Amino acid sequence: MSAVEYALELDHLTKDFGGIVAVGDVNISVEKGMIYGIIGPNGAGKTTIFNTITGVYRPTSGDVRMFGQSIAGKPTHEIANLGIARTFQNIRLFGNLSVYQNVFTSCQHNMDYTFLDGIFKSKKSRHQEAEAHELCMRLLQNVGIEHVKDQIADNLPYGMQRRLEIVRALATKPKVLLLDEPAAGMNEEESAELSQVIKYIRGAYNLTIVIIDHHMDVIMDVCERISVINFGRLLTTGTADEVQKNQSVIDAYLGVED
Ligand code: ATP
Repeated sequence: MSAVEYALELDHLTKDFGGIVAVGDVNISVEKGMIYGIIGPNGAGKTTIFNTITGVYRPTSGDVRMFGQSIAGKPTHEIANLGIARTFQNIRLFGNLSVYQNVFTSCQHNMDYTFLDGIFKSKKSRHQEAEAHELCMRLLQNVGIEHVKDQIADNLPYGMQRRLEIVRALATKPKVLLLDEPAAGMNEEESAELSQVIKYIRGAYNLTIVIIDHHMDVIMDVCERISVINFGRLLTTGTADEVQKNQSVIDAYLGVED
């Protein structure tokens, strides 16, 4: 039997802000290839977890490992280069650029030709740009937004803007994709389509995906394992079924009186 490989491990992860424990002693292990959910009420610490994984914050204590290697406290660009990409709760697109241009700028992450190569249109620059174009088109197709590639990002319906964010993240060729509330603001139909997209890209791009969201329909549909946090602490980890039946989870969401 082969040993389990973990794409991401939070090991006693703690982050406090001047005495406020946003994340306290959280242990989470995400197997390679899994779609993993982290849920919890408002202010539970979910975004702080993503910010600590991606190097926005240095953990106060504990460790973050990617494929067994510690990445805690590394700068964000180094962590991105190691293969972690993310989307944001508040959509971050170049609103006045076209859909295609938004994706192409992300593809530049993979290019390494020099300024002079670009000026003189060297073979290297032409080759890398052709590759980037091919990747852009394939990603737009895979996520079902190639028909709007020439539209200005700001003019897209909300659900498509969120998909475009996912395409931009995929264009950096990540191994681990972190989705921060990808279904926020989506209607039922858009959420259902998003679930399909998430399942598809996991297989097509050999990804490990971690999602934080309030939308239980998406989380329960796509996540094989879910961790629930409340006030920065891990309440429980389990399958969608196990988590939904867990009394401490029900209490955290519905609120209990002392
Ligand atoms: P939501 O679902 O509302 O986005 P969340 O689960 O993502 O919430 P966080 O944004 O991680 O929660 O916040 C967790 C706690 O840490 C909150 O009490 C928040 O006020 C606090 N916090 C987050 N970032 C900072 C910061 N930079 N400085 C001080 N406190 C912070």
